[in-house]
Amino acid sequence: MSISKIDQKLAANLTFNTNSKLKSIGIGDCNWTGGFWADKFKTAEKIMVPYMGDLLCGDVGHALNNFKIAAGLKEGEHKGMFWHDGDFYKFIEAKTYIYAYTKNAGILSEIDEYISIISQAQEEDGYLQTQIQLRKDADRYENRKYHEMYNTGHLLISACIHHNVTGQNNFLNIAIKHADLLHTIFMPETKHFGRFGFNQTQIMGLVELYRTVGDAKYLRLAEKFINNRGKYEVKHDSTTIGYPIGDMVQERTPLRESKEAVGHAVLALYYYAGAADVYSETGEQALLNALDLLWDNVTQKKMYVTGAVGQAHYGASTNLDMIEEGFIDAYMMPNMTAYNETCANLCNAMFSYRMFGIHGESKYMDIIELVLYNSGLSGISVEGKEYFYANPLRMVNNTRDYEAHENVTETPNREPYLECFCCPPNLVRTISKVSGWAYSVSDNGVSVNLYGSNHLKTNLSDGTAIALSQETDYPWKGRIKITVEECKTESFEIAFRIPGWAKSATLQINGEPTSIQINPGTFAKINRVWKMGDVVLLDIPMEINLVEGHPRIEEVRNQVAIKRGPIVYCIESPDLPENTEVLNVYFNGNTELKEEFQPNFLGGVSVVKGEILIRKDKSEGMYHTFTKPEWESYKNKFVPYFAWSNRGQAEMTVFMPVVWE
Ligand SMILES: [Zn+2]
Repeated sequence: MSISKIDQKLAANLTFNTNSKLKSIGIGDCNWTGGFWADKFKTAEKIMVPYMGDLLCGDVGHALNNFKIAAGLKEGEHKGMFWHDGDFYKFIEAKTYIYAYTKNAGILSEIDEYISIISQAQEEDGYLQTQIQLRKDADRYENRKYHEMYNTGHLLISACIHHNVTGQNNFLNIAIKHADLLHTIFMPETKHFGRFGFNQTQIMGLVELYRTVGDAKYLRLAEKFINNRGKYEVKHDSTTIGYPIGDMVQERTPLRESKEAVGHAVLALYYYAGAADVYSETGEQALLNALDLLWDNVTQKKMYVTGAVGQAHYGASTNLDMIEEGFIDAYMMPNMTAYNETCANLCNAMFSYRMFGIHGESKYMDIIELVLYNSGLSGISVEGKEYFYANPLRMVNNTRDYEAHENVTETPNREPYLECFCCPPNLVRTISKVSGWAYSVSDNGVSVNLYGSNHLKTNLSDGTAIALSQETDYPWKGRIKITVEECKTESFEIAFRIPGWAKSATLQINGEPTSIQINPGTFAKINRVWKMGDVVLLDIPMEINLVEGHPRIEEVRNQVAIKRGPIVYCIESPDLPENTEVLNVYFNGNTELKEEFQPNFLGGVSVVKGEILIRKDKSEGMYHTFTKPEWESYKNKFVPYFAWSNRGQAEMTVFMPVVWE
């Protein structure tokens, strides 16, 4: 039955994503060949994914054990958070990408083993949630706090990717059976299930399944999960007890009327990303209008300079609903207590990627790049085995009167395992697949979205083949050389993303300057008859800039951050005189900043060298009389924010107060 669904799709010759200007290239079409992302992919292949497999398939993570127990293959009880199944599906997804780019048959057979166990854990009617199946005190679809929809979403996405990459149906059949059960239960309008669509990952999953098998009922169900929000009275009932309600889960305001990002940042951004998927299939303008406002609200009023989102661990929305791990007021951007869950930052990129496809504008890719190089990558150590869940912009040790904001998710150091394990596989699957975001296919051409040495071989929208090679040391150097290796004989467009921060970029074709306009924050589009051997040279000056915040952000008034290209820098205690507290570090505005590439430092990074002022006079108490500070000048280096906390317990800050002579 399930295979015939795929045949139906082929027979009907359905097309998808019809309301998006840009289409994704296929998984495996673009391979990193050297440099920054090739190194990261290699670490993902050799360290991140195998290490995570040891955790999740062993007794530390216990994720595969949960499925084995549910399948009757092992004795024991469920361990881990309610969303642990979903985190295991994300790990399978990461491993599937590694297979897609390496074609290592051993990886495929390991995935097949997981799938076999998962399939045995699935109940006859399609239900599959080990956190419920292994409990005696909870029943299926009884209370949304058990995160069934989250696990469902990641099951559907992971299975569709697996089918896409391998052509196999073993995982997909599990997903179809599960989604059919979901459709039976949640499509009819009932009060009990009206507010149950939490947390909203299933919306993306259902659209992905629709695109994979072509059955429109999954798209309609995805749409229903959006339409149900804002329709029911916000007060606790049997399905909601035990977890905050209202804005926390984006159920107070219908999406089409939403103007402000609220509540849990991961829930919100998965929800918006899912809604963008629905829009790209239905073309409903009201949905897109709301998503445009929400994207602007997130990126213009609630986002950190690192691309991170989710300002607070605890707080309230403007409607006075309690919120956790999420958005608070516009421009309220604490540095030290910023929550900035790695997942939320990645979700910001995922939502932006969908908006990028829909509108085809480079500003969305700027946000994706910002997240990737900063608040995404900061979630994992350079070695690839230690994780951050929260990504604040300042860390101070438990000295003086300051206490570290520390609990299970907010840790002063990277941790080798996190009890709440949602972020690590989310990040590792993103690192494993990011070459798939490097190019997109447009109506009559291709866009170059991300820079990094790679090889692309894909098809334009008319089906003709195109192959490009890209050589660059980006993000450390701004020179990018793209060679056309194969293309059609008719004219088509190659569009190059000029990042918003890139002033005075230049483009040459075969050694000749071009006459086209090159504006930061847009695509430079070249439409011509291309031929094999054509060489485009894009030069993006990598200037070191000081960044200041909007005057409404009180937390960074009179402070600056350092940014070079897409990389945000920080100052960290290993680079300061012993016993210096980062709260005494001031930036010397008169210093000349210089970049220096250090191949053997933190995996090979460019550091920025300059001079800071360390405040020497001491003061006590909450308030005191101000006297002119005493300074000590110090020549220091700044390191990329993503690479901090790789040299033991440290203090760190991105923003520093600035002093001008
Ligand atoms: Zn997470």
